[in-house]
Amino acid sequence: MLQIADHLVATCHAISVGNFFVITYTSVMPNPTRIMPPAVLFIAGAMRSGTTLLAQMLGQYPNIFAAGELSNLWSGFETNMHCQCTRVIEKCPFWGPVTHAVLRAAGLRSHREAERLRLASARTRYMPRVIHGSLSSDQRQYELILNILHRTILEQAGATTLVDTSKKAVDLVIAARASSTAAVHLIRSPYGVAASEADTTKHSEVRLAERPPNKKPARSAFGWVAANYLTTFAGRRIDGPVLRMQYETLVHHPARELNRILDLLHSEVFPWQIDGCRFNMPSGHLVNGNPSRYRSGWQRLRRPDLGDSLAPRDIWAIRSVVSFGNYGGYERPRGSR
Ligand SMILES: [Zn+2]
Repeated sequence: MLQIADHLVATCHAISVGNFFVITYTSVMPNPTRIMPPAVLFIAGAMRSGTTLLAQMLGQYPNIFAAGELSNLWSGFETNMHCQCTRVIEKCPFWGPVTHAVLRAAGLRSHREAERLRLASARTRYMPRVIHGSLSSDQRQYELILNILHRTILEQAGATTLVDTSKKAVDLVIAARASSTAAVHLIRSPYGVAASEADTTKHSEVRLAERPPNKKPARSAFGWVAANYLTTFAGRRIDGPVLRMQYETLVHHPARELNRILDLLHSEVFPWQIDGCRFNMPSGHLVNGNPSRYRSGWQRLRRPDLGDSLAPRDIWAIRSVVSFGNYGGYERPRGSR
């Protein structure tokens, strides 16, 4: 048995002809001594939980490709969504060829057809069907498209794992059906999320379509409970491993937390480029997500906001919602109210 790559071995079968050996055939198979990392690392959780930040940080690792919100890829053609490289999807040197190759391989005429199939699959109300595998033909086709998309991205990026920050539980379940998937359930203080979602001045420098939506604190808290509950539910129903991580801990101890993820991916610890509270953010092709992704190079990791800017009545409203039978299911971030 010959090792021909880190993850592949070949078995040669030969016959002797006179004084010579002639190789009759060679079979190539995965290296049984090497556990392959999952193809997809899915980052799930509520809105504004730091999923884009985590994906961008992971992009520093050589074999990881930070893809971004794949659930918004096909609709992004209609909305003129911009890639991290500041180009629209069609003009991006990464996503342009990838999306064309996927449409061709899947036999689809346009991105609209891919988006139609996604809408027929990736909705929370379809989660029970997806979990039990009683899929419609459109849902089966979408699962196949997602598998082709994953494989094409990894091939084009030369990576072993891609990071999908689609966040939603239903997208996690579909991704896990399409390809081998590990997940990180990223949880941020509900007070910090509400403060971020209530801030109408945040990201005022970017165009309206790129800005995350603003919400009133009570509505934000309902969204937080629903997203984290559904993510916990989905995480128990996928085959791959799920790691729970707090956003606040990630910001305070980035190297330790990122190495926990590498362990999940069967990878060795990595000398992350961190200087005190600054992190060297790579530039790449993160598609959609928080506008902070446009900032690359050495960036200061900001102290997590625990909702200090919220009014007392907003804090009361959030506490009422998150403590209603659900808060106990989540670890309370240190220092939160
Ligand atoms: Zn790009």
